[in-house]
Amino acid sequence: MNSLFENWRAFISEEVEEPVTTLRIFDFDETIAHTMGAVRVKAPDGSTATLSGQKEFEQYMTQAAEKEGVKSYDPVDDLRKLNYKIDLSDFSIVKDPEEIKVVTNIMKQFSDDSRTYVMTARRGNSLGPILDYIQQIGIDSSQVRPIATEGESKGDVMVAMMRNKIMSDGKSNIRRIEYYEDSQRNIDDVLSKICDNPAINDIKPSDFELVIYKVVKQSEDIYALQEIRC
Ligand SMILES: [Mg+2]
Repeated sequence: MNSLFENWRAFISEEVEEPVTTLRIFDFDETIAHTMGAVRVKAPDGSTATLSGQKEFEQYMTQAAEKEGVKSYDPVDDLRKLNYKIDLSDFSIVKDPEEIKVVTNIMKQFSDDSRTYVMTARRGNSLGPILDYIQQIGIDSSQVRPIATEGESKGDVMVAMMRNKIMSDGKSNIRRIEYYEDSQRNIDDVLSKICDNPAINDIKPSDFELVIYKVVKQSEDIYALQEIRC
C-alpha cells in the first residue's frame, strides 16, 4: 500500500475544490464493521492482558498511561518506549468483519458537495485492508479517503481539515461535518475541539453544523444511531 496512506497530513493538505462543503467522517471499528481483533499486552512488570473490544482497550491504555504519567491522546507509542509490549497485529488486518449496515447504507450515498473519509486510530498499515473491505461490501472505495490518525486526536485532525481551505470571506469552505463514531471518548474530544474552540471560532461559517451519529450496539447484530450536536 502506498506510503502516502501512512500520513494523514498528506490527505488534508490536498486542495479541496469549492463545491465541497460537507465532510463525512466515518470511524472504522464498531462503526463500519464489528471485527474480532484483540490486542495482547505485556507490561514491564510481566503482567499480561488480552483486550478485546474498544472499551477494554481504552480502559487499559488510560490506566497504564495514568500509572506511567503519559499524557499523549493515544498513549500506545509512549507506552512502548516504556517497555510495554503491545501487539496490534490483529488491527493491521480486518479480522472476521460483520458489516454495520445502518452505517454503511448511509456511507454509500455519496454526493458532489461532500467528501467521505474513513478516520481510524489504527496504524497506517491497516488502511489497505480497510479499503479492500469497503470495496468488498459494495462501496466504491475510490470515493473514500482513508486517514490513520496515528496518535493525534480526531478533533485536532478535523480542526486542521477546517483550516485547510479558507474562502475569500475568511471563513472555512466546510459548513457541515457529519461524524459517525462509537467511542464516547472520541466524541467528547471532537465536541470539545469543534464546538467552541478559539482556534477555529473565527473561521467557522455562521451556518456551520457538526452532526455526530453515535453508533450504539443495542443487542447482537442490532445497532442504532444516536444524534449528538454541539
Ligand atoms: Mg470505533
